[in-house]
Amino acid sequence: MLQLRPNCEACDKDLPPAAMEARICSYECTFCADCVERVLRNVCPNCGGGFVPRPIRPAIEHRPGVSLAKHPASAERRHLKWDGATLAAFIGEVARIPPERR
Ligand SMILES: [Zn+2]
Ligand SMILES: [Zn+2]
Repeated sequence: MLQLRPNCEACDKDLPPAAMEARICSYECTFCADCVERVLRNVCPNCGGGFVPRPIRPAIEHRPGVSLAKHPASAERRHLKWDGATLAAFIGEVARIPPERR
C-alpha cells in the first residue's frame, strides 16, 4: 500500500494526505511540486526516477474498510541524505535522460 509520507524530503514542507502539491517516485520518495520542478528537475535524488502527483486517499469511507482513517498517513518525516554538490551532480547527469528511458 502506498505510504503517505508527511513532508517534502528536500525542503521539509508539510505534505498532509490531501496536499495537491505532493509528488512521489515509484519508491514513494515524496517531495513538493516546487522542489520537483525547480530543484530536482524531475529526478528523484534517491533512485533517479521521475515523479507523478500523489493520489489523494479518500477521507470518507465510500467503500467498507478503505479510507484514510482505516489506513492512516505515515508520521515518519524523511530528509535527503545528500549534500548540495553531490545532489547537483547527480541531477545534472540524470535529468538529461527522459524518465521513460532511465
Ligand atoms: Zn520541497
Ligand atoms: Zn525515488
